Amino acid sequence: MAVIILFVFIFGLVWGSFLNVVIYRTTHGTSPLSGRSVCPKCKRTISWKHNIPLISFFLLHGKCANCKTRISWQYPIVEFMTGILFVWWYLMGKSFFLLWGQPWNYVQPVFWLIIGMLLLVIFIADLRFGLIPDQVNISLFVLALGYRLGLVSTNQMQSPDLVTAVISGLVLTAFFYGLWYFTKGRGFGFGDVKLAPSLGLLLGWPRTLTGMFIAFLTGAILAVFLLLLGKKKFGQTIPFGPFLVWGTVAALLWGQQLWSWYWGLI
Ligand SMILES: [Zn+2]
Repeated sequence: MAVIILFVFIFGLVWGSFLNVVIYRTTHGTSPLSGRSVCPKCKRTISWKHNIPLISFFLLHGKCANCKTRISWQYPIVEFMTGILFVWWYLMGKSFFLLWGQPWNYVQPVFWLIIGMLLLVIFIADLRFGLIPDQVNISLFVLALGYRLGLVSTNQMQSPDLVTAVISGLVLTAFFYGLWYFTKGRGFGFGDVKLAPSLGLLLGWPRTLTGMFIAFLTGAILAVFLLLLGKKKFGQTIPFGPFLVWGTVAALLWGQQLWSWYWGLI
């Protein structure tokens, strides 16, 4: 058992390493799938032994082997988080992935693992570079729509549930478009607008509402906290993508419980 978990973790680290490449290249306008990794500063190709997930970063003391430029903490953090995502998926998946029968018993776990990785990419890309790459937004949307249509066409999901999920996505998109429009792009970026339809499709109704509630509540709390600590000045923006991702994940995992708990309170 422990050996398998270690293997799953290492497999996750390797994927995390790939996600780092995706994050860097999609936010810098280069193709995420071509060419070997180079140091962003000195452009030297990174050798395989300096490219081992998690380990190389610490062996190199967080510096490029060639030019000694500091390597961002993003690299080990994303690798570690992806490793954890894989282990969680392997251990906890059984209580979440309940579809049975071909092909859903395979498609469902794989789908959510890929969604988890895309959400992680959005989280880090927006946090570090302040943008949500179009390629990632489009991939997320195509996958979410394809998955929902597949579920409905094989009677795994009721058509009314798809309709409410689509309406959730449309309303959410209009809502973020309004925020983007009225804050003139300063408070909310257009990346948030383009992310909205996918979130509606993934969450459905009423979990879209739960997810957004969590995103705005935690975003507001953190903003007040940063203002009080003097880390941010009034009018400075904080990327909202990470909060949308966090709200979505929380609603996917605990949406039902949070919904009943909230209505029990009032
Ligand atoms: Zn270098």
